[in-house]
Amino acid sequence: LLALDEATVRFGGRAVLDRVDLEVAEHEIVCVLGPSGSGKSTLLRAVAGLQPLDGGRIVLGGRDQRGVPAHKRGVGLMFQDHQLFPQRDVGANVAFGLRMHGAARAEQSARVGELLELVGLPGAARRAVSALSGGEQQRVALARALAPRPRLLMLDEPLGQLDRSLRERLVVELRELFGELGTTVLAVTHDQGEAFALADRVVVMRDGRIAQSGTPLEVWQRPADEFVARFLGFDN
Ligand code: ATP
Ligand code: MG
Repeated sequence: LLALDEATVRFGGRAVLDRVDLEVAEHEIVCVLGPSGSGKSTLLRAVAGLQPLDGGRIVLGGRDQRGVPAHKRGVGLMFQDHQLFPQRDVGANVAFGLRMHGAARAEQSARVGELLELVGLPGAARRAVSALSGGEQQRVALARALAPRPRLLMLDEPLGQLDRSLRERLVVELRELFGELGTTVLAVTHDQGEAFALADRVVVMRDGRIAQSGTPLEVWQRPADEFVARFLGFDN
């Protein structure tokens, strides 16, 4: 579904993405792991069309995405800081992605109800976003990203603000949910436990490059190098 071919992004002469090759197959769940500053968010932003490439290319559904604007890429992106509209209610936030896709009003509200149920916030449409907990806001952001049924769903630290027990539960729910919906997912996380529980394949990034890509088991049993081994905590 998705292929990056030597994708490169530079900021001030420094390659933050350095000739990254990456493929994501239809229905696959890929988790990108890596230290802060390794380029994970930049990778997602580039695929979403929010960050132009300085080299290489991004192919989605067989089509080179150069010059294709973000709203025409058919990808959903849930941001690291989720960027909800605090002054609008939950329903309006979830419906935002639908309005952009021109869905009719009645269809929108039915879909909003369905999505809120899906993320475990049934009946929350009229609640104020500002009155929700961090974890609830992350669920709203997830519902918003899922709303237009993107062919590729990208999540940047989707569970970052949740406590560990809620995270562990949600990861299992999410994996089931994505399996049912047949969603292709590219997700970023700091948390290896989360990545290993969610992913079909794990990609470890270091300084704008992919240090290793493999199934959770492969990466766990045979880290490609010292960096990956250390990152996974083998010497703690
Ligand atoms: P984190 O885990 O902290 O979210 P990350 O892996 O998502 O980190 P990125 O946000 O992709 O990292 O950033 C990679 C590098 O690029 C960082 O050093 C960051 O400071 C730099 N960077 C990101 N966006 C910009 C920008 N718009 N202008 C200049 N530098 C940037
Ligand atoms: Mg980031």
